Amino acid sequence: MSGEALTVRDLRVTFDGFPAVDGVDLDVHPGDLRFLIGPNGAGKTTLVDAVTGLVKATGSVRFGGTELLSRPVHRISRLGIGRTFQTATVFEGMTVLQNLDIAAGADRGPLTLLRRRRGVPQQVTRALETTGLTALRDRPAGTLAHGQKQWLEIGMLLVQDVRLLLLDEPVAGMSHEEREATGELLQRVAEERTVVVIEHDMDFMRSFARSVSVLHAGRVLSEGTVAEVQADARVQEVYLGRASEPAAAPGPEPAPRPVNPAVPVAEEA
Ligand code: ADP
Ligand code: MG
Repeated sequence: MSGEALTVRDLRVTFDGFPAVDGVDLDVHPGDLRFLIGPNGAGKTTLVDAVTGLVKATGSVRFGGTELLSRPVHRISRLGIGRTFQTATVFEGMTVLQNLDIAAGADRGPLTLLRRRRGVPQQVTRALETTGLTALRDRPAGTLAHGQKQWLEIGMLLVQDVRLLLLDEPVAGMSHEEREATGELLQRVAEERTVVVIEHDMDFMRSFARSVSVLHAGRVLSEGTVAEVQADARVQEVYLGRASEPAAAPGPEPAPRPVNPAVPVAEEA
């Protein structure tokens, strides 16, 4: 295991005075496969947006000792931090290989990119193998199944040698088989990199998480192993939709959608 730790301290993001992320501390160690769970509106996506520079935040986010807050998005990405979105963003008209090649050349000039066309760069070959897309390399990305598009997007981060991957609901809308394959892919990726996965599906979390942080109303409600988090009465309350507003923190919190831990939840809007 190699790599850098992600250290988040007192992270806060407000939208028009509403605290979407309300003082989050988080430590994710190299080689971890951390699941970030919590009801809709808990602040999971906003947290990832803050780490990757998409929204303004206060507090501190360090990766490998480097402070990320207040750096522009492209700078943060160049530090080896990559994320996927809830909807896959691949170039549908281009082949799998072209998508990976463009991602691999994202940092380089057009001449380098031209030269690279002569052969498949090693990191592209490796990403095809890791994601299981080798046989599909000449297929237009638009013709891939939903799961395969997510794997391609993860592959596009791998060829950029991203060392911290933040994945926003990567298995939403996937079949059971695709979920299993994705979980195994994430485990392979986490052998050499640090992975944070936002997820709703408790079964998927149980099978693949190494550690879990539960977010609720912009705060970390509980943290630990899958077993520890599941045994936490506060987590059970939130996931059964019985959580009451803490008296000390009134606010315009949106009602968390009741989530049954035994039932996979459909992708949010
Ligand atoms: P999650 O990903 O856990 O479902 P989000 O991070 O998307 O939650 O949202 C957290 C809270 O912040 C929600 O109440 C949401 O409505 C609010 N929010 C998210 N993005 C914005 C935005 N751009 N402007 C205003 N409010 C937002
Ligand atoms: Mg979200």
